[in-house]
Amino acid sequence: MSNPQHILQQVFGHAEFRGRQAQIIKRVLDRQHSLVIMPTGMGKSLCYQIPAILWSQPPEPSGNQPDNGLTLVVSPLIALMKDQVDSLVSKGVSAAFVNSSLGRREREDRYRQIAAGQFDLLYVTPERFRKQEFLEVIGQRQIQLMAVDEAHCISEWGHDFRPDYTRVGEIRKLLGDPTTLALTATATPDVQADIIRQLGLQPDQMEMFHHGIQRPNLQLLVKHVWDDDEKLNSILETRDRISGSGIVYFTLIRTLSQFSEALHERQIPHLVYHGDLPRQLRRRLQDRFMNRPDSLVLATNAFGMGIDKEAIRFVMHAELPGSLESYYQEIGRAGRDGLPSECRLLYDQRDLATQMEFMRWSNPDAQFYQRVYDFLNNDLEQVNSFGIDWLRERLHYKQKHDRRLETCLSMLERWGVIRGTLNPLQLSIESELPTRFLDAGLAEDKLKRDQHKLLKMVEYANGDGDRKDFIHRYFGLQLPSAPD
Ligand code: ADP
Ligand code: MG
Repeated sequence: MSNPQHILQQVFGHAEFRGRQAQIIKRVLDRQHSLVIMPTGMGKSLCYQIPAILWSQPPEPSGNQPDNGLTLVVSPLIALMKDQVDSLVSKGVSAAFVNSSLGRREREDRYRQIAAGQFDLLYVTPERFRKQEFLEVIGQRQIQLMAVDEAHCISEWGHDFRPDYTRVGEIRKLLGDPTTLALTATATPDVQADIIRQLGLQPDQMEMFHHGIQRPNLQLLVKHVWDDDEKLNSILETRDRISGSGIVYFTLIRTLSQFSEALHERQIPHLVYHGDLPRQLRRRLQDRFMNRPDSLVLATNAFGMGIDKEAIRFVMHAELPGSLESYYQEIGRAGRDGLPSECRLLYDQRDLATQMEFMRWSNPDAQFYQRVYDFLNNDLEQVNSFGIDWLRERLHYKQKHDRRLETCLSMLERWGVIRGTLNPLQLSIESELPTRFLDAGLAEDKLKRDQHKLLKMVEYANGDGDRKDFIHRYFGLQLPSAPD
């Protein structure tokens, strides 16, 4: 008879459970719901993979094998799904994914297999549940477990809200109220409550496994600076003092490029990574970063997803991030190997203005949504042939930091109003503009929440207390030293 420990060793080749993995798995096997908050890279996936594998093994070696049920993993990260599934398959686990990267034939084949009772683990994007065809297929399976990965995306309070995730509660009902495991790396108390509510559960039905920020090897520092020379010196000094790999994060590509030039002048080897670079180049840069023991990369927040390099000795922020959620996520990439690592925030008060402006330009108002929608509706063909810059020119003067059009298109896409690709621009309109986009109150609330997050980030930068305590409190954790 197999047990979780067995699977951990036999299938995954790990000697011991980490953190509270064993308790979480036990609770899943007891068919109880949980919310798991555990830093990236700790091993959240095993908490649903091991139960899925255990359930797939029939208790009796003989007899006809019934549908052992399916573990459904809902995840927004299409880019990581294939790797995760490939890795499981290579370990002999019966897993598959369904997302928009599949061609029609592949998708139809896969649907047939799912309906026929194949696979123990199925990874899907939340959008998938918009498709009647998929609902019918999935309706033929018994769902053992619904794992909701990146669960903070459920919450509008979160930093990466995905409207399709708001349907997860409805979907849970549709699937017959399966055991549910919500997983995320970061969630403030507001977001935690929202996740539970959106899933249609009561707080007392859900046990929370909050791992906390026990990263004793990370040293958190803030340095107040008054100009870019001071920033540059600090970067040079850090590069000089700490051997090994490091990341320097910037908010703006423009600033990043200036610093890159300054490093070039001083012949300091480094890589440059941001979202405006072509995808293939980004992949090559990422590989180079991964393969060298002493790489330095100047990057925007586009850098990081899928970076599991263990030996990152320092993470610097040359510009103030917009929230502690982002900051915590980014510094979390340092010191995964457990060795001492430095996380230094360079705080120039003027960067606050950049963030404020950034915020303004990344929160389109109702009127803006309406104008973009009208443009698409009336001139879709022109928009598709002339591209995004053409559309932008029609909407407004070119403004530095103005990301409103990008934000607007991405929100319209998330709500299923438009579909297609931005690069090259090829869009289609799928529905009317939902009234929520025209609600000025909602847009204002969103702006206020963003402002609050930034305020907390500034408090962090200005504070002189224990920085880890500050972050703990922000994420609603008891301090490790506090009495029970
Ligand atoms: P998360 O989803 O929390 O970011 P993953 O589930 O992707 O993390 O796991 C990150 C890495 O940790 C994987 O390489 C995984 O194999 C490894 N891992 C998970 N659990 C253990 C364990 N108990 N012992 C050793 N390695 C583990
Ligand atoms: Mg994960």
